[in-house]
Amino acid sequence: MFTNIKHIFFDLDRTLWDFKANSRATLSEVYTAFNLQEKGIRSAMDFIKTYEKINERMWDLYRRGELSKEKLRYGRFQKTLLLFGIKNELIGKEIGQYYIKHSPYKVGLFDHSHEILTFLKKNYQLHVITNGFEEVQHVKLRESKLLEYFDKIITSEAANAKKPDPKIFEYAESDTGAQKENCLIIGDDLEADIKGGIASGWKVIHFDPHREFDKVENVLTIHHLQELEKHL
Ligand SMILES: [Mg+2]
Repeated sequence: MFTNIKHIFFDLDRTLWDFKANSRATLSEVYTAFNLQEKGIRSAMDFIKTYEKINERMWDLYRRGELSKEKLRYGRFQKTLLLFGIKNELIGKEIGQYYIKHSPYKVGLFDHSHEILTFLKKNYQLHVITNGFEEVQHVKLRESKLLEYFDKIITSEAANAKKPDPKIFEYAESDTGAQKENCLIIGDDLEADIKGGIASGWKVIHFDPHREFDKVENVLTIHHLQELEKHL
Protein backbone atom coordinates (compact mmCIF):
# COMPACT_ATOMS: atom_id res chain seq x y z
CA MET A 1 0.00 0.00 0.00
CA PHE A 2 2.81 2.39 0.83
CA THR A 3 5.48 1.55 -1.68
CA ASN A 4 7.89 4.14 -3.09
CA ILE A 5 7.43 6.52 -0.18
CA LYS A 6 10.47 8.74 0.32
CA HIS A 7 9.00 11.81 1.96
CA ILE A 8 6.63 11.75 4.93
CA PHE A 9 4.85 14.99 5.77
CA PHE A 10 3.35 15.29 9.24
CA ASP A 11 0.60 17.68 10.09
CA LEU A 12 1.49 19.30 13.43
CA ASP A 13 -1.57 20.40 15.43
CA ARG A 14 -3.64 17.45 16.64
CA THR A 15 -1.29 15.00 14.89
CA LEU A 16 1.97 15.28 16.86
CA TRP A 17 1.38 18.32 19.08
CA ASP A 18 -1.61 17.68 21.33
CA PHE A 19 -3.42 20.87 20.46
CA LYS A 20 -6.49 20.21 22.57
CA ALA A 21 -4.62 19.48 25.80
CA ASN A 22 -2.14 22.32 25.26
CA SER A 23 -4.85 24.79 24.35
CA ARG A 24 -6.96 23.85 27.38
CA ALA A 25 -3.99 24.26 29.71
CA THR A 26 -3.43 27.78 28.33
CA LEU A 27 -7.13 28.67 28.54
CA SER A 28 -7.22 27.61 32.18
CA GLU A 29 -4.34 30.02 32.83
CA VAL A 30 -6.25 32.73 30.98
CA TYR A 31 -9.30 32.13 33.16
CA THR A 32 -7.24 32.81 36.28
CA ALA A 33 -4.92 35.51 34.94
CA PHE A 34 -7.80 37.64 33.61
CA ASN A 35 -10.07 37.09 36.64
CA LEU A 36 -12.83 35.70 34.46
CA GLN A 37 -14.66 34.22 37.43
CA GLU A 38 -15.11 37.69 38.90
CA LYS A 39 -16.31 38.85 35.51
CA GLY A 40 -19.15 36.35 35.62
CA ILE A 41 -17.88 33.20 33.88
CA ARG A 42 -18.71 30.42 36.30
CA SER A 43 -15.96 27.95 35.57
CA ALA A 44 -12.84 27.54 33.46
CA MET A 45 -14.58 24.66 31.65
CA ASP A 46 -17.53 26.90 30.69
CA PHE A 47 -15.07 29.34 29.22
CA ILE A 48 -13.06 26.63 27.46
CA LYS A 49 -16.05 24.87 25.88
CA THR A 50 -17.57 28.11 24.61
CA TYR A 51 -14.25 29.28 23.23
CA GLU A 52 -13.62 25.96 21.47
CA LYS A 53 -16.90 26.11 19.59
CA ILE A 54 -16.33 29.67 18.46
CA ASN A 55 -12.70 29.01 17.57
CA GLU A 56 -13.65 26.04 15.41
CA ARG A 57 -16.17 28.10 13.43
CA MET A 58 -13.78 30.99 13.00
CA TRP A 59 -10.91 28.70 11.94
CA ASP A 60 -13.16 27.35 9.18
CA LEU A 61 -13.74 30.89 7.93
CA TYR A 62 -10.03 31.65 8.19
CA ARG A 63 -9.16 28.51 6.26
CA ARG A 64 -11.56 29.51 3.50
CA GLY A 65 -9.95 32.94 3.33
CA GLU A 66 -13.05 34.69 4.67
CA LEU A 67 -11.37 35.97 7.82
CA SER A 68 -8.01 37.68 8.39
CA LYS A 69 -5.39 36.36 10.80
CA GLU A 70 -5.91 39.39 13.07
CA LYS A 71 -9.68 38.95 13.18
CA LEU A 72 -9.26 35.28 14.04
CA ARG A 73 -6.68 35.85 16.78
CA TYR A 74 -8.67 38.42 18.70
CA GLY A 75 -12.20 37.98 17.44
CA ARG A 76 -12.51 34.45 18.82
CA PHE A 77 -11.92 35.73 22.36
CA GLN A 78 -13.99 38.89 21.93
CA LYS A 79 -16.91 36.75 20.72
CA THR A 80 -16.49 34.28 23.58
CA LEU A 81 -16.57 37.07 26.16
CA LEU A 82 -19.61 38.63 24.48
CA LEU A 83 -21.51 35.38 24.92
CA PHE A 84 -20.91 35.74 28.66
CA GLY A 85 -22.10 39.35 28.55
CA ILE A 86 -18.62 40.85 28.73
CA LYS A 87 -18.51 43.70 26.23
CA ASN A 88 -14.87 44.65 26.34
CA GLU A 89 -12.91 44.35 23.10
CA LEU A 90 -9.66 45.32 24.81
CA ILE A 91 -9.70 42.36 27.19
CA GLY A 92 -10.51 40.09 24.25
CA LYS A 93 -7.47 41.43 22.46
CA GLU A 94 -5.25 41.05 25.53
CA ILE A 95 -6.41 37.47 26.01
CA GLY A 96 -5.72 36.80 22.34
CA GLN A 97 -2.19 38.11 22.79
CA TYR A 98 -1.67 36.07 25.96
CA TYR A 99 -2.90 32.92 24.25
CA ILE A 100 -0.70 33.35 21.17
CA LYS A 101 2.30 34.10 23.37
CA HIS A 102 1.91 31.23 25.84
CA SER A 103 0.21 28.30 24.14
CA PRO A 104 3.14 27.46 21.79
CA TYR A 105 5.32 26.87 24.85
CA LYS A 106 3.16 23.97 25.94
CA VAL A 107 4.83 20.69 25.14
CA GLY A 108 2.08 18.07 25.24
CA LEU A 109 2.59 15.57 22.42
CA PHE A 110 0.65 12.46 21.45
CA ASP A 111 2.11 9.30 22.95
CA HIS A 112 5.17 7.87 21.24
CA SER A 113 5.77 10.92 19.01
CA HIS A 114 9.52 10.84 19.63
CA GLU A 115 9.80 7.07 19.24
CA ILE A 116 7.93 6.94 15.95
CA LEU A 117 9.81 9.89 14.48
CA THR A 118 13.13 8.29 15.47
CA PHE A 119 11.99 5.06 13.83
CA LEU A 120 10.78 6.69 10.60
CA LYS A 121 13.78 8.97 10.24
CA LYS A 122 15.98 5.96 9.55
CA ASN A 123 14.25 5.32 6.24
CA TYR A 124 12.45 8.47 5.19
CA GLN A 125 12.86 12.20 4.87
CA LEU A 126 10.47 13.76 7.36
CA HIS A 127 8.79 17.15 7.03
CA VAL A 128 6.01 19.15 8.62
CA ILE A 129 3.13 20.62 6.61
CA THR A 130 0.90 22.93 8.62
CA ASN A 131 -1.78 25.57 8.29
CA GLY A 132 -0.72 27.14 11.59
CA PHE A 133 0.97 30.50 11.89
CA GLU A 134 4.65 30.50 10.93
CA GLU A 135 6.13 32.02 14.10
CA VAL A 136 3.85 29.97 16.39
CA GLN A 137 4.61 26.62 14.76
CA HIS A 138 8.36 27.11 14.99
CA VAL A 139 8.12 27.80 18.72
CA LYS A 140 6.02 24.66 19.24
CA LEU A 141 8.48 22.49 17.32
CA ARG A 142 11.49 23.93 19.12
CA GLU A 143 9.99 23.79 22.60
CA SER A 144 8.70 20.25 22.25
CA LYS A 145 12.09 19.15 20.85
CA LEU A 146 10.68 18.03 17.51
CA LEU A 147 12.72 20.24 15.18
CA GLU A 148 15.63 17.82 14.86
CA TYR A 149 13.52 15.21 13.06
CA PHE A 150 12.42 17.38 10.17
CA ASP A 151 14.15 18.53 7.01
CA LYS A 152 11.54 21.12 5.99
CA ILE A 153 8.78 22.91 7.82
CA ILE A 154 6.14 23.87 5.27
CA THR A 155 3.72 26.47 6.57
CA SER A 156 0.71 27.87 4.80
CA GLU A 157 2.11 31.34 5.29
CA ALA A 158 5.31 30.49 3.42
CA ALA A 159 3.36 28.62 0.72
CA ASN A 160 0.75 31.37 0.53
CA ALA A 161 -1.95 28.68 0.45
CA LYS A 162 -3.63 26.52 3.07
CA LYS A 163 -4.34 22.81 2.96
CA PRO A 164 -6.41 21.45 1.19
CA ASP A 165 -5.39 23.91 -1.56
CA PRO A 166 -3.21 21.95 -4.04
CA LYS A 167 -0.86 24.93 -4.14
CA ILE A 168 0.60 24.15 -0.71
CA PHE A 169 1.18 20.52 -1.72
CA GLU A 170 2.94 21.68 -4.91
CA TYR A 171 4.98 24.12 -2.86
CA ALA A 172 5.95 21.29 -0.52
CA GLU A 173 7.06 19.12 -3.46
CA SER A 174 9.26 21.83 -4.91
CA ASP A 175 10.67 22.91 -1.54
CA THR A 176 11.73 19.35 -0.71
CA GLY A 177 12.55 18.21 -4.25
CA ALA A 178 9.97 15.44 -3.95
CA GLN A 179 7.81 13.83 -6.62
CA LYS A 180 4.13 13.46 -5.70
CA GLU A 181 4.26 9.67 -6.03
CA ASN A 182 6.92 9.58 -3.30
CA CYS A 183 4.91 11.68 -0.82
CA LEU A 184 2.78 10.63 2.12
CA ILE A 185 0.86 12.92 4.46
CA ILE A 186 -0.20 11.91 7.97
CA GLY A 187 -2.84 14.13 9.52
CA ASP A 188 -6.01 14.35 11.58
CA ASP A 189 -8.08 16.65 9.38
CA LEU A 190 -10.23 14.93 6.76
CA GLU A 191 -10.57 18.03 4.58
CA ALA A 192 -7.18 19.66 4.89
CA ASP A 193 -4.90 16.62 5.17
CA ILE A 194 -6.75 13.66 3.71
CA LYS A 195 -8.86 15.09 0.88
CA GLY A 196 -6.16 17.64 0.18
CA GLY A 197 -3.46 14.98 0.00
CA ILE A 198 -5.51 12.66 -2.20
CA ALA A 199 -6.42 15.48 -4.59
CA SER A 200 -2.72 16.24 -4.98
CA GLY A 201 -1.82 12.64 -5.77
CA TRP A 202 -0.17 11.94 -2.42
CA LYS A 203 -0.64 8.87 -0.27
CA VAL A 204 -2.44 9.56 3.00
CA ILE A 205 -2.87 8.18 6.52
CA HIS A 206 -5.65 9.47 8.73
CA PHE A 207 -4.81 9.90 12.42
CA ASP A 208 -7.96 9.73 14.53
CA PRO A 209 -6.74 9.52 18.16
CA HIS A 210 -10.14 10.12 19.74
CA ARG A 211 -12.07 7.87 17.33
CA GLU A 212 -14.21 10.78 16.22
CA PHE A 213 -14.55 10.06 12.53
CA ASP A 214 -16.19 7.51 10.30
CA LYS A 215 -13.73 5.36 8.42
CA VAL A 216 -12.96 6.76 4.99
CA GLU A 217 -13.01 4.22 2.17
CA ASN A 218 -9.58 3.23 0.86
CA VAL A 219 -7.83 5.32 3.50
CA LEU A 220 -5.79 3.81 6.31
CA THR A 221 -6.90 5.14 9.69
CA ILE A 222 -4.71 4.83 12.76
CA HIS A 223 -5.60 5.64 16.38
CA HIS A 224 -2.10 5.53 17.87
CA LEU A 225 1.08 6.85 16.30
CA GLN A 226 2.98 3.64 17.03
CA GLU A 227 0.72 1.83 14.54
CA LEU A 228 2.82 3.52 11.86
CA GLU A 229 5.60 1.02 12.55
CA LYS A 230 3.46 -1.75 11.09
CA HIS A 231 2.75 0.14 7.89
CA LEU A 232 5.93 2.03 7.04
MG1 LIG B 1 -4.16 18.98 12.42
